[in-house]
Amino acid sequence: MTAQGRHFLQIPGPSPVPDRVLRAMDMPVIDHRSAQFAELGKAVLEGCQKIFKTAGPVMIFPSSGTGAWEAAIVNTLSPGDKVLMVETGHFATLWQQMAARWGIEVDFIPGDWRHGVDPAAIEAKLAQDTKRAIKAVMVVHNETSTGVTSRVADVRAAIDRTGHPALLLVDTISSLGSVDYRHDEWKVDVTVAGSQKGFMLPPGLGFNAVSEKARAAAKTNKMPRSYWDWEEMLKPNAAGFFPYTPATNLLYGLREAIAMLLEEGLDQVFARHKRLAAATRAAVTHWGLEVLCLDPSEYSPVLTAVLMPPGHDADKFRKIVLDNYNMSLGSGLSKVAGKVFRIGHLGECNELTLMGALSGVEMGLAAAGVPHRAGGVDAAMASLEERPTTNSPGHLKVVKT
Ligand SMILES: *Cc1c(COP(=O)(O)O)cnc(C)c1O
Repeated sequence: MTAQGRHFLQIPGPSPVPDRVLRAMDMPVIDHRSAQFAELGKAVLEGCQKIFKTAGPVMIFPSSGTGAWEAAIVNTLSPGDKVLMVETGHFATLWQQMAARWGIEVDFIPGDWRHGVDPAAIEAKLAQDTKRAIKAVMVVHNETSTGVTSRVADVRAAIDRTGHPALLLVDTISSLGSVDYRHDEWKVDVTVAGSQKGFMLPPGLGFNAVSEKARAAAKTNKMPRSYWDWEEMLKPNAAGFFPYTPATNLLYGLREAIAMLLEEGLDQVFARHKRLAAATRAAVTHWGLEVLCLDPSEYSPVLTAVLMPPGHDADKFRKIVLDNYNMSLGSGLSKVAGKVFRIGHLGECNELTLMGALSGVEMGLAAAGVPHRAGGVDAAMASLEERPTTNSPGHLKVVKT
């Protein structure tokens, strides 16, 4: 195996950490009860509000995204509560299993792992629930196992049409900082996020952005909790502190990552992800392979899951790509294991990173003997030329003659 050059980490999280973020974290650990720490604490807590698009509090736990899932559940729900969830894929299934372990009764709307949340299905379920037994609607924004992004704004509108008081809990672990998301405008009650995907940080931070309604629910719900208790976290947070030792150096990285996202501009960040995703799909389609996501309005800007032709194993293919080209592609998870591979194009990723990744995929297809039409990389380049970068001056645009 040749390992010269930089490893291409093209999995949909953890995503590559920019050098700027790595350098920002290369700092001595400081006293987390000091005035110096409080400045850092306040900076990241306020900065997060801009990324989540909320005027309310955002909490940062030293945890993986799974921990932040748990925090959302134990602070808002009670054993025996009914909730509505949708089987969009592997991550929705894991969150559902977690809720069940906490004694929550989940109405899990089945899915085919190729579509996102159907707002009409949510609307119908809530409309039928005349006794208002459903306490929360819990959905995954970007289903990382399938490359399908659900339309959270439409889900919100569907809930509003029924006048149902259920809370809306959204997993944005792989979308926040990469896909348009608006906690306040979409009246989301709890937004769950993590550090290692769109935030471009190493794994280790979990986030909860919470509404007034969610905080009110936390005052009366009956789930035992301690480490994850929101009010215990919010009290010291008001002064920039944490109730226990925070992940200090990850917070240095977070401050830098927030600065990078805001310097580029969130709208430009979202446009870049869409552009890279469109180029990836152009390559996949040209190769004659199939994108797992079936609804163009739900294509993920973060990753593309690709179906292998029958008789070809996705994991064998991924191993050939890793061994030959030093690139990691995402595996198929649970139901689609061996059947799909996933190309991550999120966070620290630009046109040339993507072209390198797609070249590796195309060479890998040839090396693995997977039937395909050569030239997908050219198709991706053509797609990028058609959709000019929003952050380059117009006069630099390539004009085809
Ligand atoms: C990665 C991911 C998770 C799990 O996060 P961990 O940090 O691995 O605990 C949950 N949901 C989605 C949508 C994810 O992409």
